[in-house]
Amino acid sequence: RLEIRNLSRSFGGQLVVDNVSLKVMPGQVTCLLGPSGCGKSTTLRMIAGVEMQDAGEIHVDGNLICDTVFRVPPERRHIGLMFQDFALFPHLTVGENVGFGLKGAAEAKRARVEELLGKVGLLRFIDEYPYSLSGGEQQRVALSRALAPRPRIMLMDEPFSGLDNRLRDDIRDETLDVLKAEDAAVLLVTHEPEEAMRMADEIALMRDGRIVQQGAPYNVYNAPADKQSVAFFSDIN
Ligand code: ATP
Ligand code: MG
Repeated sequence: RLEIRNLSRSFGGQLVVDNVSLKVMPGQVTCLLGPSGCGKSTTLRMIAGVEMQDAGEIHVDGNLICDTVFRVPPERRHIGLMFQDFALFPHLTVGENVGFGLKGAAEAKRARVEELLGKVGLLRFIDEYPYSLSGGEQQRVALSRALAPRPRIMLMDEPFSGLDNRLRDDIRDETLDVLKAEDAAVLLVTHEPEEAMRMADEIALMRDGRIVQQGAPYNVYNAPADKQSVAFFSDIN
């Protein structure tokens, strides 16, 4: 479970993330939804540990992993990442890509890689190189790679933005199935209300660095907190 408390960050005197608090439970998808520039990616980067907060705390499964004095390095946070440019390693096979972050015995690694590629329907490509796969297939490989070390937290920043509409729908559904089966706590960033409505168990609506409303998708959509939120959601139809 991921818990962030009162996270803030400024750049050049401008408050970009302003006192953000969130909880994400295992097996749940929380969407951080808001317009471009509202501070979504900055929030995710602080949780991943590649950006330092000015104030606030981050906890994973009840353990403090970062505040303003104490800091667990990114590689020891057990957090999976999937960002927009999910670039696979071109010189490694699909199987080697998925197994890249795994430690331990070769057979156990191989079994985990086969399990995940099986789940996303790409086992037949295990010994192929990424360039021979379509964009959607590469996306599925990237998802498998992020999930391979069994992260307790999964952070996704606009992971579907490079795909055409029909493919995107399929991949969203499939991604949800895999994430739920792995029981990760997922924080997914998007600026598209439609994506949040489709994927989220909970939506946190962000504007100007603040979370202005939070709740089940249906509730947030049906009862936006203010006029700006109504305008933002009106894109959806
Ligand atoms: P988008 O939907 O366009 O990806 P976002 O919500 O992810 O937007 P952020 O990337 O978090 O937005 O950026 C929020 C604001 O912080 C922007 O105005 C951005 O220019 C600024 N910002 C982010 N990182 C830095 C940085 N390292 N130095 C200076 N300003 C930054
Ligand atoms: Mg962003």
